[in-house]
Amino acid sequence: MAQKPARSSRRIAVVGAGIAGLACARTLQRAGHAVQVFEAGAHAGGRLATLDTPFGSFDTGAQYFTVRDARFATALQATAADLARRWSASAVRVLDQHGRVAEAPPPRQEAHWVAAPSMDALPRRWAEPLQATGALLLSTQVLRLAPDALDARRWQLHTQGTGDEHLVHAGFDTVLLALPAPEAQRLLASAAADLAASLAAVAIAPCWNLSLAFPNAGEPGTLGPQWNAARSTHHRVAWLTRESSRPGRAAIERWTVQASNAWSAEHAGDDAARVTSKLLRAFAEITGIRATPAWTEARLWPQARTLQPLGQPFVWDAARGLGLCGDWCLGHRVEDAFVSGLELALAALR
Ligand SMILES: Cc1cc2nc3c(=O)[nH]c(=O)nc-3n(C[C@H](O)[C@H](O)[C@H](O)COP(=O)(O)OP(=O)(O)OC[C@H]3O[C@@H](n4cnc5c(N)ncnc54)[C@H](O)[C@@H]3O)c2cc1C
Repeated sequence: MAQKPARSSRRIAVVGAGIAGLACARTLQRAGHAVQVFEAGAHAGGRLATLDTPFGSFDTGAQYFTVRDARFATALQATAADLARRWSASAVRVLDQHGRVAEAPPPRQEAHWVAAPSMDALPRRWAEPLQATGALLLSTQVLRLAPDALDARRWQLHTQGTGDEHLVHAGFDTVLLALPAPEAQRLLASAAADLAASLAAVAIAPCWNLSLAFPNAGEPGTLGPQWNAARSTHHRVAWLTRESSRPGRAAIERWTVQASNAWSAEHAGDDAARVTSKLLRAFAEITGIRATPAWTEARLWPQARTLQPLGQPFVWDAARGLGLCGDWCLGHRVEDAFVSGLELALAALR
């Protein structure tokens, strides 16, 4: 899409290329500003993440998204209608620790959407215009935010890239942090301690995620239970999905297990092998599947789910040219991240 020249083009740094950062950066770039996005990971997407294995992909972060906000619906329709697929996890039920139904699914559930062929297809799509214009720096972690050495009204970012390369990127009129709250607080601690302190009430829980593949299971969907997704009241496990049931995925029997927030916090320091063995035992208790998986991988998301949001869609300090966005401003969903990033961009454009 052609970019409109901004009335007065600003140099804007967006730190973090999760959904919030991408929504924010794309809006500002389309308005004609010179945007540079810094992303620590090798891909855009953050917690919309996919693990590729010899047995097929696993969505190790967000499993689905809801579409409640009209602007999110419009963005998906305009840019990713071919990727967004409705997932009939409509019978998501709540199971107890023995896999018995503790709570039946409500008669009408909100639509669950996934990106096909994997969840990371959506952020990859949204990153394309930024990548095409050289505005996205991947594998570049921002270590420090400081006033610009040559012009104290501006900002500079100290980064570490691949191969331990340290650089300083200077001359930003505006810096927008699209990071989990604790990481934003860390960067703000020396540059704007008051903004860092304003996030003190935000609480975020970790989550251990376990990926399991059973390539010898035979016909897809025949191993274990007849359901494809469930919440669980088991003290170790909060959510289970049959990955192979999701639209556009390979048919090999694969399961994703997400540990509960409390158990993940208690075991955040454990190694992956110990966590795998404990979660596998819980998985067997809930699903009745006792086969040995051919593939397991456990991953800890240290900042997975917002327990206490900020309660406002973004933070914007026009005088200092500093802003904050992320799912934690509003809640714990992909959609919250999108709305937060979009609204911060619109505030910065005013
Ligand atoms: C296991 C799990 C399951 C989930 N399930 C669902 C679900 O089913 N439905 C749903 O709607 N939501 C779900 N979520 C939440 C959803 O993934 C998030 O709400 C959303 O992806 C957050 O986007 P964000 O842009 O705010 O943050 P993030 O996705 O965390 O993006 C932040 C980005 O900043 C980068 N970064 C961090 N520090 C730096 C630095 N110093 N310099 C540069 N870059 C940095 C990170 O690499 C990351 O890419 C789940 C999350 C997890 C972890």
